[in-house]
Amino acid sequence: MVKIITIKDHERHYYPNHPEKPERVEWIVKEVGYSREWERVDESLLERVHHPEYISLVKTYVGWLDPDTYVTPYTYQIAARAATASYYAKEGSLILTRPPGHHATRNKGMGFCIFNNAVFSAISKEEKVGILDVDAHHGNGTEELLPENAVYASVHMGSGYPGTGRSSDKRRFNMPVYHSLTDKEFAEFLEMAFRFFQERGVEFIVVSLGFDGLYSDPLTYFSLTPKAFYELGERIREWSWVAVLEGGYSPLIGEAAKKFIEGISKG
Ligand SMILES: [Zn+2]
Repeated sequence: MVKIITIKDHERHYYPNHPEKPERVEWIVKEVGYSREWERVDESLLERVHHPEYISLVKTYVGWLDPDTYVTPYTYQIAARAATASYYAKEGSLILTRPPGHHATRNKGMGFCIFNNAVFSAISKEEKVGILDVDAHHGNGTEELLPENAVYASVHMGSGYPGTGRSSDKRRFNMPVYHSLTDKEFAEFLEMAFRFFQERGVEFIVVSLGFDGLYSDPLTYFSLTPKAFYELGERIREWSWVAVLEGGYSPLIGEAAKKFIEGISKG
């Protein structure tokens, strides 16, 4: 059974009229419920991924890290909880991380992201990890921070934020897409990504689960339906996995999360 984890007080990380808002988690919980709320913070983890000066900035500053990324008086505590949950959550957990993480680099929060949850998850594993980033934006932060034990695969808008992810190498498989991505093309990406993982001996999958590739999303030009996430779930079902929430800014993300869980729980 999939364990769904929410982050305590995440609704206090909020700025009026910003798309990265607490309702995103509510849309999902309304469809799939949740198993537990995560409260614990392990501050000693943070410096394993981020620069001490950046951590201290998030802790003390209130305002904007870039034109997209806000920090409230509660943000440090909430983002540290999300990172801690990503590190400690058991196999088979979907963590509804807010704020999201895949744009966060060692020194910098950007693109709505504060601490890089997927990287915290990857460094907690002894196995070879495949980070599967299905958010419609490229995970520049994850790529920069890619741990020794991990490889990375991403499908993303080629002409969208943040403008990275145009080339691949032994440890990174990037598929930039310049048109409206369909469910069929998404399935083709998954086929290639899992072949890439298998060739590199991956044993554990960390999903950067962004739902902003949905046709209803206000921030992207992709056109996935919730069914694409059913197929994603089916693909991951045979593996050991953890998923962390990235983007997704339309109410349809609730339906897509439900499909993902149905696909992963089948049989
Ligand atoms: Zn995104």
